Amino acid sequence: MHQRHGVNRDRMKSRNRGLVLQMICTSPHISRSDITKQVGLTKMAVTNIVGELIQEGYIRETAVLDTALVGRNPVLLDLAPSSPVLVGVYLSREDLTVIVTDLKLRTMYKQRQPLWQETGESITQKLYCLVDQALEAAGTRPILGIGISAIGPLDRQAGMLLGPTEFFGIHEYPIGPLLRQRYGIPTYVDNDMNAAALGEKLFGQGKTMDNFLYVGITHGIGAGIITNGRLYQDGSGFAGELGHTSICYNGPLCSCGNRGCLEVYATMPVILGALKKAAGRPVACEEFQVLADDPACIPVFEEISDRLGVALVNVANLLDPQCILLGHQGVYWPRRYMERLERFVNNGILARGHRAIRVEPAAFGIDAPLMGSACLVASELFEGRLSQDAV
Ligand SMILES: [Zn+2]
Repeated sequence: MHQRHGVNRDRMKSRNRGLVLQMICTSPHISRSDITKQVGLTKMAVTNIVGELIQEGYIRETAVLDTALVGRNPVLLDLAPSSPVLVGVYLSREDLTVIVTDLKLRTMYKQRQPLWQETGESITQKLYCLVDQALEAAGTRPILGIGISAIGPLDRQAGMLLGPTEFFGIHEYPIGPLLRQRYGIPTYVDNDMNAAALGEKLFGQGKTMDNFLYVGITHGIGAGIITNGRLYQDGSGFAGELGHTSICYNGPLCSCGNRGCLEVYATMPVILGALKKAAGRPVACEEFQVLADDPACIPVFEEISDRLGVALVNVANLLDPQCILLGHQGVYWPRRYMERLERFVNNGILARGHRAIRVEPAAFGIDAPLMGSACLVASELFEGRLSQDAV
């Protein structure tokens, strides 16, 4: 019983420490008294935690904010110049990207390798090469962990990609264990939708929201769900498969075996195919803004917006989000049609007239799943689950 209390106390201490660090990392500038006011800890507790974080090299005191007019000059806290860093790996169908960021998610290093006719072994070689360079770029700064954001489906606990469709026929690829064994650094693996949602929650558009959805439109359509301020990660890891919710019970057959799945109507390949037909030439998603005014393309944008709208009304009625962030290549969806989608959703939900749901692009834009990879580590640190002894 005594031991159990001891464990709980340690857990609470780590959580408080994580909270204080999170406030410092996600605020442009902050003082001890700001932290005391916002996290609900005693002044003494905050002073002790800040003292520890300074001693451990995470933070430092910086210039005093000029508040001469009100007669108080609080000392501000910021990251220490040699504070520990995060490594992020984003594995998409097209490429492998590795970043190093500080704890304010400022990118210090970024390198990308395209993927082409790969095997498991060739991906591993590219991965090692990129991470070797990233660790070298981090220099003497301690590395807290490697976060891996990857296409699904995957097994988070085992750190293993199961069997992504159209991914060079690669199955059961143990990306987490491979990196942990080679570098001896904690690794955290999640799917790219969850990682992107977490990044938006900690550092992006969702910082002040407790309930929102990140909807990534790419080769497929997936969602990362933030509920009560946390990523929904329960179940067996197949939550958020928005693309395989049906919007037409007798619609065309989907690859998953169901009929009328959203993915039959609105993935990026489907959108690009329809626009190509309308425009009479191949198009890229970076051109959406221009094509939005092309009379031949307008019906395509309208129809696909409305089909997305049907699926988003369903999910909004289930989860009651404050906001829906469009991400992955979905960030290129033209503003005008994002507004159409927002109107469609707000006209369709049961709560219409009582509340409004915003539909916006992700703050990190096309880089949301990449920045989210580093956030898988930051989140462990802020939740007080990461070992305090950085490697
Ligand atoms: Zn399906």
